[in-house]
Amino acid sequence: MIQIQGLHKAYGDHEVLKGVNLEVDKSQVVVVIGPSGSGKSTLLRCCNGLEVAQRGMIDICGQRLLTNGKMLNDSQLNALRTQVGMVFQSFNLFPHLTVLDNITVGPRTLKKTSAAAAKEQGMALLDKVGLSEKAAAMPASLSGGQKQRVAIARALAMEPKVMLFDEPTSALDPELVGEVLSVMKLLAKEGMTMMVVTHEMGFARDMADTVVVMDGGRIIEADKPEVIFTNPSQERTRSFLQAVL
Ligand code: ATP
Ligand code: MG
Repeated sequence: MIQIQGLHKAYGDHEVLKGVNLEVDKSQVVVVIGPSGSGKSTLLRCCNGLEVAQRGMIDICGQRLLTNGKMLNDSQLNALRTQVGMVFQSFNLFPHLTVLDNITVGPRTLKKTSAAAAKEQGMALLDKVGLSEKAAAMPASLSGGQKQRVAIARALAMEPKVMLFDEPTSALDPELVGEVLSVMKLLAKEGMTMMVVTHEMGFARDMADTVVVMDGGRIIEADKPEVIFTNPSQERTRSFLQAVL
């Protein structure tokens, strides 16, 4: 579903991705961990064209997104982005729209879904994330955990083939983390292909097919969670885990 080869990305002369290779198969959950500044967000943002890497190749959802600095054109990129859902740390809901309208606006405007069909789908998604009763609420009235669940429902409304999560629970009070992780677990169990940057090691341990460890713009280790958490091959992985666990 995602193939990344030899990805190099620099901001000015600061190289933040130094040759990243990664594959994510259909229905796999890949969790990306690593210290601050190691390039996790940059890698994720490259996967939906929010960042352009100068060198390397990205195939995603059966399309060549990037080859050596050359990206799809804007209309191709917009079409691709409907297949690649992204959820950020800051929920980025539209503040002037109700919860339901936040979810239906994408399908109505980008997929030309009828208002009735979009509403029906939106209500089903709200049910899935446990927020049916909040359809008419405004985002400002929601807790952080509720906002993030709406953000996930909004991404799902586009019927993506892949979901990218960049620290989806990092901005939440601890007691609200679980409700968001539960929704993500549900998606994983349904077979959604997911790439997740997170500091929630419990989620990584339970849900990841592969845990990818980044450091200094490189993937230093990638393996099953039981290997990463009990017997990592890299000393750097061990010290990082000691610091966060
Ligand atoms: P964190 O855990 O803090 O979110 P990260 O692993 O996601 O870190 P990135 O956000 O990918 O790291 O950043 C990697 C490096 O690139 C950092 O040194 C960061 O300062 C730099 N960087 C990120 N975005 C930009 C930008 N728009 N312009 C310049 N430098 C940037
Ligand atoms: Mg980041």
